[in-house]
Amino acid sequence: MLIEPQGQSLTAIQELERSTGEKITDCYQCGKCTAGCPASMDPPPSVLIRKLQLGMFDEVVSEQSIWSCMACLTCSERCPKGVSPAAIIEGLKLIHLRDMDPQVQAEELGQEFLAQSTQQAVVSGFRKFI
Ligand code: SF4
Ligand code: SF4
Repeated sequence: MLIEPQGQSLTAIQELERSTGEKITDCYQCGKCTAGCPASMDPPPSVLIRKLQLGMFDEVVSEQSIWSCMACLTCSERCPKGVSPAAIIEGLKLIHLRDMDPQVQAEELGQEFLAQSTQQAVVSGFRKFI
């Protein structure tokens, strides 16, 4: 039975799919991603995806286990349906961080700090934290 998320949860899941390029409903719950995951995640990637299929976006985006993911891509390599759990989890992390109050104000960093910092590190950091 296909359970369709509704309301705010549907909007959030559509945004997650748009930003990651992944299709949550493509997952047929074979569990190969979870079987190969070295991170002992609880809940593991296949369960996170199943919860998203059931529309439980708020619960999934707040799961501590997404922070245990090391982005090793083993799950994405193993998926017979071409789903990338690693990309979905990274998308969840980004949404979680962007929903927080900004931890860093760009104007407070100062010219000296910026001059000594690697440009790519600053840009990628701000993509996540602001
Ligand atoms: S990318 Fe994350 S979820 Fe996927 S196998 Fe690696 S640690 Fe596990
Ligand atoms: S390997 Fe792919 S199809 Fe199987 S449970 Fe994981 S994401 Fe779903």
